[in-house]
Amino acid sequence: MPLMYAEIVLGRVNPGLDKVYHYSIPEELAKTLDIGYQVLVPFGKSSGVGYVVGMVEKSDIKGIKNVAKILSPHPLFTRDSVELAKWMSTYYNSFFITALRAVMPPGTTHIERRAMKAKIKKPLYQEIQSSKSPSTSLRAGKIQTKFSLTLEQKAALRSIATDIDIKKFSVSLLYGITGSGKTEVYLRAADHVAEMGGGAIILVPEVGLTPQIIERFSEHFGDRLAVYYSDMPEKERQMEWSAVVMEEKKIVLGTRSAIFMPVKDLKLIVLDEEYENTYKQEQNPRYHAREVAFELAKRAGAAVVLGSASPSIETYYHAKEGDYKLLVLPKRIDDRPLPPVKVVDMRSELKAGNYNVLSRELKEELKSVIQKKEQAILFINRCGYFSFVMCRTCGHAIQCPRCSTSLIYYMKDEKLRCNHCGFTSEAPVICPKCQSSQIKFFGGGTQRIEQEVAKIVPTARILRLDRDTVTKKGSYENIIRSFISGSADILIGTQMVTKGLDIGSVTLVGVVAADIGLNLPDFRAAEHTFQLLTQVAGRAGRHKLAGKVIVQTYDPEHYAIMFASKHDYEGFYEEEIKTRRSLGYPPFGSLINVTVLGESERSVEQVSKELVKFLKKRLPPDEVFGPAKAPIVKLKNNFRYQILLKGSKIDVLRKAVVESAASIVKLGGVRISIDIDPYNML
Ligand code: ADP
Ligand code: ZN
Ligand code: ZN
Repeated sequence: MPLMYAEIVLGRVNPGLDKVYHYSIPEELAKTLDIGYQVLVPFGKSSGVGYVVGMVEKSDIKGIKNVAKILSPHPLFTRDSVELAKWMSTYYNSFFITALRAVMPPGTTHIERRAMKAKIKKPLYQEIQSSKSPSTSLRAGKIQTKFSLTLEQKAALRSIATDIDIKKFSVSLLYGITGSGKTEVYLRAADHVAEMGGGAIILVPEVGLTPQIIERFSEHFGDRLAVYYSDMPEKERQMEWSAVVMEEKKIVLGTRSAIFMPVKDLKLIVLDEEYENTYKQEQNPRYHAREVAFELAKRAGAAVVLGSASPSIETYYHAKEGDYKLLVLPKRIDDRPLPPVKVVDMRSELKAGNYNVLSRELKEELKSVIQKKEQAILFINRCGYFSFVMCRTCGHAIQCPRCSTSLIYYMKDEKLRCNHCGFTSEAPVICPKCQSSQIKFFGGGTQRIEQEVAKIVPTARILRLDRDTVTKKGSYENIIRSFISGSADILIGTQMVTKGLDIGSVTLVGVVAADIGLNLPDFRAAEHTFQLLTQVAGRAGRHKLAGKVIVQTYDPEHYAIMFASKHDYEGFYEEEIKTRRSLGYPPFGSLINVTVLGESERSVEQVSKELVKFLKKRLPPDEVFGPAKAPIVKLKNNFRYQILLKGSKIDVLRKAVVESAASIVKLGGVRISIDIDPYNML
């Protein structure tokens, strides 16, 4: 019996319409129509774009209508992708169409929108078709390698290669300090896959932040490498996508969303620095690339490799428990030692009369670096010039009127700006609350540090790398490249300077304020600080020249800072896992963060309370926390209240919250956002 009915999901994000509809297939379309096609279907009194997610023989539904038209020249996704999208929409509680869009080629939603504009004559798919990868001369890349692997690298590679050959789902943690040769192992594992004609996906936290890994991979794989990241122009992404569909390219290097590239014969997925927050998407579907990778690898029988110098607590726990294979690269290539870390207590600086943002020691080291014609990196986790504006008379802090966060003072335009919503205003001369003129600016950001450093070493050439300087496309890479090429002596920046850089002449790394972030209301705050310091410290003394790290802090006894300064991941892990165990946080329990938001605080509060009432009927009282005002209680004019669910079974928690959210009285303008395995608790 022929497959007579198409199962179709509409291209509309609407709770009432998020289901699978049946349509019959007219004779003339029967030969072509298949899973993955974008189609036009009659819907209600008009028509809509839909996607074929399945084909069935029978349907009990009455009054089935015909598919009107096929829109795409070829399927946009496979049956496997549909299955993955189904899993994602269930696990992360997103609409099916939203999950499905994640697995579709880039630009599909634009086409959808154009298709819905009446009477298009222009072919919809002109762009994608004509932008197929230009040539397929498969440049071999330089397969010859310059060196032989260390014993540990060999053992790690052998274990990964065996897993690949067995074709069974497996997870390995490749644990090794920065510079221990992890990237080289990824490269050769991918090479092993390529030799077998298979496919691999290598994920990095942010492409812009790791230009060197791209260089090494493209040097090695040449035209066989697809590079795919989110802020790449859509056209280029489409080209890479079709090159992968056509199997011209089977090795993919990219960020989070590259996990959805339609790689055939997938045998290997690598996540470099798997603890990074960028692997978690903060919009629907709120997926984590690691969990998607597991799901994908289970279906494909592929090997997953998680690589890190400081694995997430969860991952290291699983490796220790034997759930993942633990592969260790214990030392840097050529035994180069990790740089010594000096912790400077900024309280003593104050006592000694130094009120500057730079400690005496950091100042001296900066001078010496410039004298020796070496390079330094300074890290400060804030951009702008001043990060708080406060009235000394009444204590009023100037906040964004749309967000409950402080405004940041930027030097260039002498304005206050909100980092969350972009609101700008003039810096006040008198306090808006008490009219006092005692306005004071506090807290140093990158701009301020730049100015201070220029005072200490006036001859130094300084580059700044932060949100402010990388607004234009490509500016990140330009700044990094000019620093690498030696056209600057000191690089000052935010997180962006902490990753992946491997620069021989960097001998000094300074962390201006290690405690920022330590006191955030997030159970991962200590872990983040530890990882950040480990990353930053790894930037110094990578090659022949010895390096040094200076960490400035007001909290030198904090265990995250103490263990990081001793390069002691194990010590940190042992301390942290105790806390996690006693509080039931991951990996010992699962979390769901529910945010209730809306413009009326009263309604938000009312809905939150009611939601908690319902949740407590379904879950034990010690698994429901809140409601509480979110740490950022107002964001872009929306008030935000949070409810945290913590329990041993994520499925039970999810069911409870989905059912409770469905049963409460809907108040106009109030939304409920559900974040499974949350990373951002603010
Ligand atoms: P990681 O990814 O752990 O930071 P890399 O793979 O980038 O480490 O290796 C650090 C440096 O050592 C790189 O410059 C790399 O080319 C080099 N390297 C890696 N493995 C070897 C090896 N077996 N012999 C010599 N040099 C190596
Ligand atoms: Zn005041
Ligand atoms: Zn704002």
